[in-house]
Amino acid sequence: MRSHHDLIIIGGGCAGLSLAARLSSYGEDAPRTLVVDSRAGYSNDRTWCFWRLPGTLAQELVEYEWSQFRIAGAGKEVRVDCSATPYCAIPAERFYWNSLAAISGNERIGLVNQAPVHGVVGGGPGRWEVETAAGSYSATNVVDTRPARAPRQGDALLWQSFLGVEVEYEKGSFDARQVTLMDFGGTPGQRMVFTYILPFDARRALVEITEFSPYAVVPGELQPLLRGALDRLVPGREGRVVRTESGVLPMGMLGASPGGVQWGDGRWSYVQAGVAGGGARSCTGYAFQRIQRWAERCALQIREHGSPVGHAKDPVTLAFLDHLFLRVLRDRPQLAPQLFAQLFGKAATGSVLRFLGDWATAADIVRVVAALPPGPFVKALMSLCAEPAAAWRESLVS
Ligand SMILES: Cc1cc2nc3c(=O)[nH]c(=O)nc-3n(C[C@H](O)[C@H](O)[C@H](O)COP(=O)(O)OP(=O)(O)OC[C@H]3O[C@@H](n4cnc5c(N)ncnc54)[C@H](O)[C@@H]3O)c2cc1C
Repeated sequence: MRSHHDLIIIGGGCAGLSLAARLSSYGEDAPRTLVVDSRAGYSNDRTWCFWRLPGTLAQELVEYEWSQFRIAGAGKEVRVDCSATPYCAIPAERFYWNSLAAISGNERIGLVNQAPVHGVVGGGPGRWEVETAAGSYSATNVVDTRPARAPRQGDALLWQSFLGVEVEYEKGSFDARQVTLMDFGGTPGQRMVFTYILPFDARRALVEITEFSPYAVVPGELQPLLRGALDRLVPGREGRVVRTESGVLPMGMLGASPGGVQWGDGRWSYVQAGVAGGGARSCTGYAFQRIQRWAERCALQIREHGSPVGHAKDPVTLAFLDHLFLRVLRDRPQLAPQLFAQLFGKAATGSVLRFLGDWATAADIVRVVAALPPGPFVKALMSLCAEPAAAWRESLVS
């Protein structure tokens, strides 16, 4: 007979492992949980960054931090002192090992790798059947963190596609004191492309090319731009590539419920979480801290009420402003360097970072809005109002 679990978590990446690790801290009170994931193992496949605002979680995993970042483009450079809320980085391998150690310390929580899930079916009240390549499992509750289907034009207002290398040079080549958040210099004018540089020390950095566009861009298309950025940064020298990372993240999912799909009646639930479940902030694509907050809340909910929950919806004002901002970027990509420079250059740093980190007060929102040029936003608002409401309202309130 198949073993039955209280909870199956599909996908043991950031969201799945974050939830499993939190549940493991409940000791014998933890629900009988199985994490099933398609991957064969874990590697340093990404670097999670965020600003350390009050309320930041997983701080003990931070390996690097910077107190300054810069935005460059449109002939301007803005340097921002963020020493009050440093920009922090967690290497993925550190997060994975930490989560896996927590899980292995509780025998009520199991992990099966190389188990791609083919399907989930309701097997009757109180029972979900999860079919994987490694066998079938059943559970009362399912949290599904698999990525959504392949990125498609029209599923999000914009897609954030990126390709980066962690590269090491023999001689010092980077200013290790500051992060380059966005440098629009030397990239194709008609495309919204910028370079992101995370310098771990003077010789080693993560250098990434990012493009915001209505469709997903494959890494091969970003490769020549990345090569160009490295040649500009460190002319005439070849670095050693330590690892590569790439991804495509939705910015403003359209038609999807911001809290992801949720079924069930509280006694048996299926909940979508992670980026596919609305875990990423629309205007940035950043998801790590939001996922940590969700995992904390979800674990608590499971302990107290026995059933999982999805991501909290963004307040309507925030969701609306993100939507408008992304529309301006989509419709007038050439304005991107100016908009970001103005945002970080004019508004108080604390206000912008709280806004981006989901902690904005009403006063922060007013400061952020006041820093941006009104013209493009009024136009975007007018075109939004002229559209049939259902098309865009669905992505804001559902
Ligand atoms: C390279 C990269 C860098 C990023 N950097 C940042 C950052 O600096 N700051 C930030 O806030 N956010 C960042 N993000 C965004 C976000 O934080 C990450 O994407 C994060 O990993 C999302 O967590 P998740 O659990 O939704 O997805 P994932 O971590 O990708 O986990 C999904 C899991 O599902 C598994 N899976 C897929 N298909 C199946 C299947 N059929 N069956 C079973 N399992 C399956 C995968 O193997 C994976 O383990 C980054 C994303 C990427 C890709």
